[in-house]
Amino acid sequence: MSIDPLTLAIVLVFLMAQAAAALLFLALGHPQERGIKHAGFAILSQTLGAGLALVFRNILPATLVIGLGNALLLGGTCHLFLAVRLFYGRRVSFWYPLAAGALVGFAFLRITFLQENTQARLALASLLLGVTALAVAWEFSRKSRDEVWVGPRWLCAAVFLGFGLAELSQSLKLYRMPTGVGPLDVLSISLPMLVAGLILYAFMGLGLALVLAQRLEARQQRFAQSDLLTGLSNRRGFEAYATRVLARARTQGQFTSLLMLDVDHFKRVNDTYGHGAGDLVLESLGDLLHQHLRERDGAGRHGGEELTVLLPDTHQSFAAPVAERIRQAVEAMEVSWEGRIISVTISIGVASTAETDSDLAALFQLADARLYRAKAGGRNRVVAD
Ligand code: GH3
Ligand code: MG
Ligand code: MG
Repeated sequence: MSIDPLTLAIVLVFLMAQAAAALLFLALGHPQERGIKHAGFAILSQTLGAGLALVFRNILPATLVIGLGNALLLGGTCHLFLAVRLFYGRRVSFWYPLAAGALVGFAFLRITFLQENTQARLALASLLLGVTALAVAWEFSRKSRDEVWVGPRWLCAAVFLGFGLAELSQSLKLYRMPTGVGPLDVLSISLPMLVAGLILYAFMGLGLALVLAQRLEARQQRFAQSDLLTGLSNRRGFEAYATRVLARARTQGQFTSLLMLDVDHFKRVNDTYGHGAGDLVLESLGDLLHQHLRERDGAGRHGGEELTVLLPDTHQSFAAPVAERIRQAVEAMEVSWEGRIISVTISIGVASTAETDSDLAALFQLADARLYRAKAGGRNRVVAD
């Protein structure tokens, strides 16, 4: 079977255009995900580059088309690297685009003005493209937060790794080839790269679609499980988190502690300063908990002015001091409202799996009973046994 390289190149360019269009279309509906828009423009740039360098090379003047085409292709790949970083919330300092610009500028000048030798020119283009594709693969391979399944991300990493290695081996092959073998048919020489490109864009489309679907689902789930006012988990979110933590603790033989917090005489805050002031106090309590807890601890709003904190891998004897520190911090907290300072206190009930069944219902029951005793005992206190 023989394949016409030009036909293959045209198919590849259409496939790339489709990927770019899909991403740009998706970006319209999800402006908060900046990585998607950048990936769309990156692949658009690659599409134009591949179109110029592969398809239009016989129609337009070669000097115009080849340098520009390769620069767009390489620039698009660099841009894709930045898009993936943005997508995963990694820092993109101004050095990145600057370095990418310098690299693309160098490639453009070298390919357009300095390089008469087709073989060396192709070797250079493949080398640069290969290295940038590997950089994209590296960004996909890095661990990412709140991810349900690593599969789609690994698929993306694998296809870019494969493409990068294919480009590098092509570059090496061209470099080692004896020079002066006569005029090269660029498209025929690039046939393996065209096939690699087709595989890349086919699987990349699938990988990206799955990565995006997961991201959007996770976002929706986070939204459904968080409390708008305090920024803490809502009851559903907290229970889901706590159930996960307790299951893990059971298998690993660790203790887990639960704190139940209730604002003292909160009704008075509302009655004295108004409902808006009460809301602000709750918001401030959410911030305070965020500041006082470790990364793996979880805080939720159980309902009204009642909050919950779960401390994984924490015995009762360590949980009580944590609760006491939170109580003191709340006592010292000053919330300013319309020129006045509002102070509140909280009561806390502490329970741990060291003393009761390791299911959430049992923990809640014990902590709630202790919270009740803290209230009855005069409020603004911690009851831990
Ligand atoms: P105690 O010390 O016994 O806990 O007294 P309390 O006044 O805090 O308890 P109570 O349960 O009688 O009142 C809770 C109040 O919390 C009543 C309700 O209006 C108020 N509340 C519940 N949710 C919100 C909210 O989202 N915003 C505001 N501003 N108030 C809320
Ligand atoms: Mg209360
Ligand atoms: Mg209450």
